[in-house]
Amino acid sequence: MATPDDVAADLDALVLAGGADVAPGSYGAEPLRPAWAGQPERDHYEISLLRAFIDAGRPVLGICRGHQLLNVAYGGTLYQDLATELEVQLEHRSQQRYHRNIHDVAVVPGSGLAALYPDQPTGTVISVHHQAIRDLAPDLEVEARCTTDDIIEAVRLSGSAVGSRRWAVGVQWHPEFEAIDPPATPTAGRRPPARRVHRCRRRQRHRQSRRRCCTSAPRRPDMTNPNATLLITNPATGEPLDEIACTTATELADAMDAARIAQAVWADTPVDERVAVLDRFRHLVAEQADELAAVLTSETGKPISQATGELGAVLGRIDFFTDKVADALAITQVGDDGATVEMIAREPLGVVANISAWNYPWFVGTNVFVPALLTGNAVLYKPSEYATLTGLAMGRLLADAGLPPGLFTVVVGGGDTGAALLELPVDSVAFTGSYPTGRRIAESVAARLIPVQLELGGKDPVYVTDDVDVAAAAESLAEGAFYNNGQSCCAVERLYVHADVFDEFVQRYVAEVEGFVLGDPTDPDTFLGPLARPQHASVLAAQVDQAVAAGAVVRIGGGVLERNGGVWFAPTVLTGVTDDMAVMRDESFGPIIGIATVQSDDEAVARMNDTSFGLTAGVFCADEDRAVPLLGRINAGSAYFNCCDRVSPRLPWSGRGNSGIGLTLSVEGIVAFTQPKAYHLRRPRAL
Ligand code: NAD
Repeated sequence: MATPDDVAADLDALVLAGGADVAPGSYGAEPLRPAWAGQPERDHYEISLLRAFIDAGRPVLGICRGHQLLNVAYGGTLYQDLATELEVQLEHRSQQRYHRNIHDVAVVPGSGLAALYPDQPTGTVISVHHQAIRDLAPDLEVEARCTTDDIIEAVRLSGSAVGSRRWAVGVQWHPEFEAIDPPATPTAGRRPPARRVHRCRRRQRHRQSRRRCCTSAPRRPDMTNPNATLLITNPATGEPLDEIACTTATELADAMDAARIAQAVWADTPVDERVAVLDRFRHLVAEQADELAAVLTSETGKPISQATGELGAVLGRIDFFTDKVADALAITQVGDDGATVEMIAREPLGVVANISAWNYPWFVGTNVFVPALLTGNAVLYKPSEYATLTGLAMGRLLADAGLPPGLFTVVVGGGDTGAALLELPVDSVAFTGSYPTGRRIAESVAARLIPVQLELGGKDPVYVTDDVDVAAAAESLAEGAFYNNGQSCCAVERLYVHADVFDEFVQRYVAEVEGFVLGDPTDPDTFLGPLARPQHASVLAAQVDQAVAAGAVVRIGGGVLERNGGVWFAPTVLTGVTDDMAVMRDESFGPIIGIATVQSDDEAVARMNDTSFGLTAGVFCADEDRAVPLLGRINAGSAYFNCCDRVSPRLPWSGRGNSGIGLTLSVEGIVAFTQPKAYHLRRPRAL
């Protein structure tokens, strides 16, 4: 290792940043608790480094631990734990252990800080510490103190002055947190950082969403353009709702740094404190559900009754995660032969990049970020460009719930912003979206060997047997195909109906579809809203046209309906379809479905399995003993008997083939955001 003198000779300045406790032994005290024994060797090296820089006339800035080390280096002592020794921890690290605390400091008149901020006798800082200066070193002077408990917050080595050859300053607060706070999340409801000693120079662009009358602005932004914006439009009317500045490359890098720092602290936060934050988030979601549902409807066109349903159901998912996380993270002992104990612990992955879809943004978002946060990770969350307002609302509510800054950053933008996000040194990627994008993402991060979780599309089939209750099956399967306008990864996309009940089934099915109310998504009676992405109408139309050209018959619907500035697609049922048609092979993700006839169970299984996807599959049948073995033969992550388009927080949600890798939901979906550590603990031999 280079000697401190060598380092000081090579470099122009030293910043000693925050980190581990200073060892009490470094200032001649006994640790009050074994856990506070610190790292004496590290202290020794850093103190030598600090002295070497000062002696060489190089400036030194100590932050938090560095500030304390400066005091110790010149003969001062520290409080080992403010809560134990002074009962003042609240101002510096609250009972929400490791929370960053915003509090005020008073600048000492006549000090260097007073000269820098002549009009600002007090300022607001963020700190995270439980140690602090007790006896000030004789060579140091106090520059600032906490206004409520007088703790020394800033010091200066006597004689330090701009231009002098002796300059060392220590601050107990974290100026770098100051700089990275703003983009972390919109922090409405938090105490405003009124007069900060270190002002944030960056633009707070996320908070400055601007409404402009601009119908031609691109929805997908250009990352190379720092002024890129995202125009949010209402798909039911085509009207602009908002225009939001996209996250720039610099902001992304800052968010990554913030996440890295915050995650290290969050990982050490007891799980019940993490649960308390997510419980508060859940409470806020419940409280504001109507408003949040209205936002969701406005930007995706999801009928308001379905938006309200999503907001209601997401509460149960959050409850599941908060209930189960402590057990999921419990250390398990798996062996003890008398000499060696074997244990498995679960540790967080670190910083998770979460790129999400728009169709069920509350479901697919919380499936990832709630367990990821509960298990001690930070999340960089990029909502879909079609559900950005909802993503920003999530960030606001998490902040309001008390999630420390930096742990959840909403990244605003389209695909290129997502791609830029993945260039950051994140520790894991959780993606929900289409197969082509998922594949591109997997390829882009493959060389980094980080865990990647992909929740992708499907071409979900259902087999209707000959003994079925036809009316009940038709009703359930019509809803399963057309709910949310068919824009569900697990929407029924292919129907294989036994020839013996085919005609009756089709007739009842078409009657069900005829009954669906299509219209204004804000009307509580509407079942089918506009397409969230108007441009997708051409994909659906092409599937229908191709099928019809190859001999399929349109039983109902079949085309685009443009009204009031929005684009609807008439709910469409096709028969006479074959498995080589796009409508039976490619994900439609819209209100269209093909119904084919089959002669036997074996034929149905073979045709259901003839797909590159493998998300869900179902069998509607009167006989469970017949249906369940059929489901056992189907290559899909979820199997439905007499139900469809269903997700449960208690069951793993996973796809096979082009439907993805990894999983969310269930206890496994909590553990998925951790990595195991295997402990081999050999007992010391009895003397
Ligand atoms: P999409 O693939 O178009 O976009 C998904 C996300 O990826 C968006 O946030 C987008 O901005 C981002 N993105 C696009 N290109 C990117 C790139 N090169 N790098 C990084 N990020 C990029 O999908 P979508 O239209 O938002 O969602 C619909 C799809 O999602 C459907 O295929 C649906 O089946 C699937 N989906 C799957 C599940 C599931 O649980 N399996 C759930 C919901 C939706």
